[in-house]
Amino acid sequence: MKGKIYTCLSKIYTFGANQTQKTTTMAQLRFEALKRLNEQPRRHLDLPSPKVSDFFGEMVFSMDQMRASLSPAVYKKVSQAIKNHEKIDEDTADAVASAVKSWAISKGATHFTHWFQPLTGGTAEKHDSFFDAIAGIEKFKGSELVQQEPDASSFPSGGIRTTFEARGYTAWDPTSPMFLYGKTLCIPTVFVSYTGETLDAKGPLLKALKAVDLAATKVAQFFDKDVLSVKASLGCEQEYFVVDKGLYNARPDLVMGGRSVFGHSPARGQQMEDHYFASIPSRVYDFMKEFEIEAWRLGIPVRTRHNEVAPSQFEVAPLFEEVNVANDHNQLLMDVMWRVAERHNLKVLFHEKPFAGLNGTGKHNNWSLITDTGVNLFAPSSSARDNLMFLTFFVNTIKAVHEYADLLRASIATAGNDFRLGANEAPPAIMSVFIGSQMSAVLDELEKKGNVKIEKGDNMYMKLGIDQIPEIILDATDRNRTSPFAFTGNKFEFRAVGGSDNCAVPMTALNLIVADQLTKFHEAVSKEIDKGTEKRLAIVNVLRKYIKESRDIRFEGDGYSDAWVKEAAKRKLGNINNTPRALEAYLSEKSVSMYERHGVLSHAELEARNEIRLESYIKRVQIESRVMGDLAMNHIVPTAIAYQNKLITNANGLKGLGIDNKAVIQTIKEITELINIIKNGVRQMIEERKRINKIADTHKRALAYCDDVKEKYFEEIRDAVDKLELLVDDEDWPLVKYRELLFLR
Ligand code: ADP
Ligand code: MG
Repeated sequence: MKGKIYTCLSKIYTFGANQTQKTTTMAQLRFEALKRLNEQPRRHLDLPSPKVSDFFGEMVFSMDQMRASLSPAVYKKVSQAIKNHEKIDEDTADAVASAVKSWAISKGATHFTHWFQPLTGGTAEKHDSFFDAIAGIEKFKGSELVQQEPDASSFPSGGIRTTFEARGYTAWDPTSPMFLYGKTLCIPTVFVSYTGETLDAKGPLLKALKAVDLAATKVAQFFDKDVLSVKASLGCEQEYFVVDKGLYNARPDLVMGGRSVFGHSPARGQQMEDHYFASIPSRVYDFMKEFEIEAWRLGIPVRTRHNEVAPSQFEVAPLFEEVNVANDHNQLLMDVMWRVAERHNLKVLFHEKPFAGLNGTGKHNNWSLITDTGVNLFAPSSSARDNLMFLTFFVNTIKAVHEYADLLRASIATAGNDFRLGANEAPPAIMSVFIGSQMSAVLDELEKKGNVKIEKGDNMYMKLGIDQIPEIILDATDRNRTSPFAFTGNKFEFRAVGGSDNCAVPMTALNLIVADQLTKFHEAVSKEIDKGTEKRLAIVNVLRKYIKESRDIRFEGDGYSDAWVKEAAKRKLGNINNTPRALEAYLSEKSVSMYERHGVLSHAELEARNEIRLESYIKRVQIESRVMGDLAMNHIVPTAIAYQNKLITNANGLKGLGIDNKAVIQTIKEITELINIIKNGVRQMIEERKRINKIADTHKRALAYCDDVKEKYFEEIRDAVDKLELLVDDEDWPLVKYRELLFLR
């Protein structure tokens, strides 16, 4: 009964600390893992100091650290270069390198690495030692800080490197602080080809952030000339599942792709919704405490921890920060969580839909724009004048989402998220904006009052009904959890982002479309002013037009309902439920010209990125399909047949005794039918894969994997396997069951 996966599994299989076991069948593996579940050694780590502030950021080479270790002149140069996105000269880089080397070595570092975010997802590193054997001392030059050439050949470039240039390099991003991870100094960097094409997630994000800074600053100056820059901020709520490592290792599907391809819903799922308010299981609590400590030492401001709706699902949320830093922190946090979980013999799952029938895993991106004068542009204030500024940014954001809804949808498209969007407790694949009943009333009023005549000496704000926003908006009960993009009082929350995503991708899209929209707004208002319209009226006139034009993207009802799907179709809003089709939006003329207009990505770069994302989609569907086939044919079907044989013996025995055996025969028949469905399904699915793998065009191949493999066979095969799970003797079942995986204490 040994299949391919089982053979490889028996080699890597461990139950936890120093516990390995030779087993012969997967069912034995499952029971062994279950037996060990309560024998795992526990690990408690106390705070290194009673106050978090004593050790917060101690592993970060922060601006304060820099100030303390550099001469005032050099420090000034660095901080100004950072502020103005300028290049840092060689002497300054040498000084910083020397300072950071001393700091890192004093904390036990032996190596340094450029830390970057290739398009495969995750982060990448290449470690070099400070120690120079020839010189016999520790060395670190400014040039090594500023630029490095990793062996880039193994990272995806979507054809760019073959078309343009074979090599790529990483370049220091001084806007995100260096940090010490283990014994290695990590230097956040962008990854670029020698001809200048970006090969990572961070590069375009930095460009989009610059674009939104420029555009938002210009618009903010309509209201306040003192505003010199605007920064976008991000707070990402990271959801995740935690499972026991031994049980995880006994599920090849989780090991290979992070998602269970089979598994019947437990009798006690999330119907009771009791997990949400329950106390955190003690084993998970110990894990949380430890990763929080590590995060704090790394300067990641994690703050909130709680249970989520599904059993074994949790959430961690940090305090918001500037987008680039917040995203680096989220990438790092996922890595920290993964590593700390290992120490607790746990596994963290960030996959968007690890368990069918339960909540998926998202990463809500809370986003706002904040001026260098400290004003959150999405926060209504008590001053009517400032409210017009708030409304300006508010309405422009809605307008941007309306204009580029399909691009936002594309920005969160992955094989994993396809399982989540539109499923249990997740926003649908339709992009819409929720703003709450009070803000809806304000916008409706403003739109209606199009003909109000404003005379000299009038209180314009009062006449337009926008003088009182702060008081009405403070009602926190006005919330809608079903919207993919919601206004939550002083920020927007992009909820459709997947749990394993790099936020840089959706954040690039969002900041860019808002930058584009604000640029257009600035032009439109300036034109009206040139025609002699008073500035505030010009602003109001353009806003009114936008409110009317973007009305269809606003939706206040239940986003999970079927009625909305129908309504959205009437409004001609996109509802694209798979990645290959969603990604098409990136290459539309409208999108390409916008990306190029703001210098964020060229047409060639967009093409390359699309290619990479399609390839990754194909690979993931392919792997799942193989795991499914292997598990089904080598483990599930043989188990079912063995059980069937037991039943046949039983049926014959009953017959010999003259006892009614109809019920047993009925079960035998049911099992036979299910086995046939599985065998036929897997066989046909393999044939389809063979055919599809010959399709040369990546987009067409991805579409075929979606339509002719995933959509056609996954559900059918799964359904039959899950039914068998209920029929076959529990003693023989080869896969760890949902109830065993999900109710960790
Ligand atoms: P929720 O009710 O959705 O859990 P919270 O108030 O707990 O909302 O905030 C969730 C996240 O939003 C946190 O990471 C928080 O720091 C972040 N956040 C709050 N204000 C802003 C803002 N102005 N810009 C960006 N993120 C913000
Ligand atoms: Mg939230």
